[in-house]
Amino acid sequence: EERTPKNFLEEIIEKDLKEGRQESVLTRFPPEPNGYLHIGHAKSISVNFGLADQYGGETNLRFDDTNPVTETIEYVENIKHDVRWLGYEWARELYASNYFEDLFGFAITLIRKGLAYVDDSSSEEIAAAKGTPTRPGTNSPYRDRSPEENEDLFRRMRDGEFPEGTRTLRAKIDMASPNMLMRDPVIYRIKHAPHHRTGDKWCIYPTYDMAHGQSDAIEKITHSICTLEFMPHRELYDWFIEKLELFPSRQYEFARLNMSYTIMSKRRLLRLVEENYVDGWDDPRMPTISGLRRRGYTPEAIRNFCTRIGVAKRDNLIDVSLLEFCAREHLNKISLRRMVVFDPIKLVITNWPEGQVEQLVSENNPEDDAAGNRMIPFSGELYIERGDFMEDPPRKFFRLGPGRSVRLKSAFIVTCDDFVKDEDGNVTEVHCRYHPDSRSGSDTSGIKAKGTLHWVSIPHAHKIEVREYDRLFDAENPVDEAAKAAKAEESGKAKEAGKAKEAGKAKEAGKAENAVKAENAGKSKNSGKAAEDTHAGKPSNPGAAGS
Ligand code: ATP
Ligand code: MG
Ligand code: MG
Repeated sequence: EERTPKNFLEEIIEKDLKEGRQESVLTRFPPEPNGYLHIGHAKSISVNFGLADQYGGETNLRFDDTNPVTETIEYVENIKHDVRWLGYEWARELYASNYFEDLFGFAITLIRKGLAYVDDSSSEEIAAAKGTPTRPGTNSPYRDRSPEENEDLFRRMRDGEFPEGTRTLRAKIDMASPNMLMRDPVIYRIKHAPHHRTGDKWCIYPTYDMAHGQSDAIEKITHSICTLEFMPHRELYDWFIEKLELFPSRQYEFARLNMSYTIMSKRRLLRLVEENYVDGWDDPRMPTISGLRRRGYTPEAIRNFCTRIGVAKRDNLIDVSLLEFCAREHLNKISLRRMVVFDPIKLVITNWPEGQVEQLVSENNPEDDAAGNRMIPFSGELYIERGDFMEDPPRKFFRLGPGRSVRLKSAFIVTCDDFVKDEDGNVTEVHCRYHPDSRSGSDTSGIKAKGTLHWVSIPHAHKIEVREYDRLFDAENPVDEAAKAAKAEESGKAKEAGKAKEAGKAKEAGKAENAVKAENAGKSKNSGKAAEDTHAGKPSNPGAAGS
């Protein structure tokens, strides 16, 4: 069945399969375990697992754990949990650190072929000799060491003979290449740091470029999909595969997901956590998978969002409201409805028989017949929403006011006769008459009521806690705002800078944080909100209702 037009990755894969360049599809999702997964990773997961699934292939989960300093087991475990929660199952769980011995072997091969050398320059000296995009760099004084000397030095680097920063291994390519990454890139560094998997076995670690493509080739990944910023790395990726004569994995790039009113870099998210702007990686306002989960998002909603935004070749900013729409769309299908009054005002039914309680029938989910019905107790004293009553309403106000009639959801039509105010002029009670022949489902009253109000019966209501979260940032594009602020500051416009910075900063106080605090304080705390009494089923979205 032909659905939406194919995206460029689908076109590439189909061509590869058709022309026999690849026999099957093997992709990988390669997180660095230095933080929790965020919605951007969900996009990458959806692309990698989705394409493999679509073409009968498989996906590896590969931890890109080549930087011992920032990576932990806790991150590894949470990443696995989040991928599974999103609904994906990987074919193999792998670690770049498993390939340290192979990668070391590849480095020796390059050295023996005269394609890598040990450089004694400091990182500052290396940077200074790199040149600029328009001016070629200069060769390192160590560039012409013999393969024998290089191999001896490199083995001694591995044996721990040299302090950090004193030597690196560099690929010997071209210091005049228009691609800065091809100007003899560093491929191994000395780091006397224990690794969360290999312990203190290694004190030299491969760089991203040395590790990533070769790990792909070792695993025989057919399509190595990454984000646009890796485009300049592709030349180097191909260079290693060619020189080392490895499996021809190919790199393809798509635009990373950027979303409004949030940030998506693990480094920056970590700052929010460490500097206590948020409650943790899973704070419900965070764009992390664990934060979205805690906020009530479903995996289906997130997957649907990822499909809907598609794969782009150019950077763009996706409106967060699209993600929110996807959540609402799915919750609307699966959630059991419950009536909750947030800001209650008392409604008295003056002609209701004293003490009488009636059980009314209401559907659990109008979108889903299988969700069935529930009984709701109705009495002569109800709560309605304060905003659903106006003392002197305009004509188009279809809720309650003196002389106006409304339907109470799943119950009766009521007509307002009177109201009571306290000495400050606040309405405290609304007095209504109900129409006994207007019962929902068997209404013979002939009365037209334009509005329907939700309500709860006061003697049957439960106080509940409702957690409402706001956006974490005021600025639509916080990173841009922060950059603008930095620039403004530099040019001496201190006033403007302060403003922009403020906007880009996480909101510290206010509603959102109080909500988080309330949550920490535990379930005993309630915020005066009233929910209907029903035990017909448990609410499926604990963020919005409970009893
Ligand atoms: P960050 O900038 O958040 O640190 P990263 O790219 O360094 O992200 P990794 O753990 O290395 O994080 O990412 C794993 C995979 O997820 C990579 O293939 C990366 O390209 C992809 N990815 C990360 N962020 C996004 C995003 N916003 N949109 C799409 N893919 C992303
Ligand atoms: Mg990365
Ligand atoms: Mg990173």
